Amino acid sequence: CGVFGVIGVTDAANFVALGLHALQHRGQEAGGIVCHHPEHGFNSARRFGYVRDNFTKQSLMETLPGPLAIGHVRYSTSGGKAPVIRDVQPFFGEFAMGGAAIAHNGNITNADALRKELIERGSIFQSNSDSECIIHLMARSLQRTIPERMEDALRRVEGAFSVVAMTRTKLIGVRDPLGVRPLVLGQVADGWVLSSETCALDIIGAKYVREVAPGEMVVINGNGVESHFPFRPQKPRFCIFEHVYFSRPDSIIGQRSVYETRRQIGIELAREAPVEADIVCPVPDSGTPAAIGFSHESGIPYAMGIIRNQYMGRTFIEPTEQIRNMGVRLKLNVNRALIKDKRVILVDDSVVRGTTSRKIKEMILDAGAKEVHFRIASPPTAWPCFYGVDTPKREKLLAATMSEDEMRDHLQVDSLRFISLDGLYRAVGEASGRDASCPQYCDACFSGEYPVKPSDQIEKGFEL
Ligand code: 5GP
Ligand code: SF4
Ligand code: MG
Repeated sequence: CGVFGVIGVTDAANFVALGLHALQHRGQEAGGIVCHHPEHGFNSARRFGYVRDNFTKQSLMETLPGPLAIGHVRYSTSGGKAPVIRDVQPFFGEFAMGGAAIAHNGNITNADALRKELIERGSIFQSNSDSECIIHLMARSLQRTIPERMEDALRRVEGAFSVVAMTRTKLIGVRDPLGVRPLVLGQVADGWVLSSETCALDIIGAKYVREVAPGEMVVINGNGVESHFPFRPQKPRFCIFEHVYFSRPDSIIGQRSVYETRRQIGIELAREAPVEADIVCPVPDSGTPAAIGFSHESGIPYAMGIIRNQYMGRTFIEPTEQIRNMGVRLKLNVNRALIKDKRVILVDDSVVRGTTSRKIKEMILDAGAKEVHFRIASPPTAWPCFYGVDTPKREKLLAATMSEDEMRDHLQVDSLRFISLDGLYRAVGEASGRDASCPQYCDACFSGEYPVKPSDQIEKGFEL
């Protein structure tokens, strides 16, 4: 998901709508905005579909006045699979001290246990979302101020959270102690901005100030930014998959351009798994920077052998298998003239279920390619993510049950190679690779080493 918030500008909701539009790649199912105006109080709108189809209508935006607003773009991970509007964030609650709204990116790994406990103690839940626990924990806290109540609530929460919240007068941003999901701070005119990614600062002409640090809470009002560290400090474990796929290539993470990291992954891949071929084609858009790097390093010409229909969203965000199956053809088409009689290297960011790769291979062979070689910009995805990226159950992951060679045979391609975990770490700037004793990133979906115990999942029978 994507989160965004602004304080100290006229009609903050308009800024939030633009910010959410720039974060649309992080969630396409639904979006929502909550705002506050000194006279009109809290207002909100939550809608299914793209930001641009909802939050551009004047009739709607007029109902969202005030200098303070937060927003959220969602794709479901932990909520029920059939999308329901009740699950669309931000969540708003009125309680002692005047109420608050929150937008959450990540996934709470002990949400089932918390929910059960809260319901037993009388909380009334409105949604199926794990994120709603935070509001109830805040409402029950005995602390005096809302930021203190939020600290209290978040100390009980396990897992990954980048949260943007608001009261009547304050904008609040928090990252979990490991800093699994991103969150940055920016400045626009006399106001302040919180955003999942820097690309959404650019769209409103905001200046990047810094990242919210792992374990940090920033509380922003008319007097500026206050910083708190409510959690026991831990070594950060940022999601390495944000670099590979999730973030936009024009965002900056930890002083590094995401585009440059992806290009570097392609360079590493070409060194680790070279192959003779005529052209290097990306599976657009997520494979593009890595393909550029692969072509640069190998000297094999880069070509747009697959063309993407720009009016389709991200494949994996489609919740049902049937739509995803069709999705590949609706979204990608082969550039026949270019492919015919060629030995083709295809570069994609990841193989999850293998659906995309299988369809693309068929399309490429239909178009008359002589050979198909897959090069993948991440290690085999053998484990589900429980921290906010929607990977399927372990059984559905191709790499959970097959070796690299078995996957190659299953996909019926001439070769298939994934970047090594160390190669990936080098590409994100860790010159000596992965520190096995204490990895610098979360890489659980590749390694199976979960930095936060997925306790709800273990309760349901998941085996580490
Ligand atoms: P597959 O078709 O193998 O299930 O999914 C791979 C495609 O989905 C890749 O082209 C990739 O761009 C996209 N994808 C990237 N990350 C994820 C993820 O975390 N989960 C899923 N399900 N798909 C992803
Ligand atoms: Fe990111 Fe993978 Fe860790 Fe999930 S499991 S947070 S996708 S690195
Ligand atoms: Mg893709």
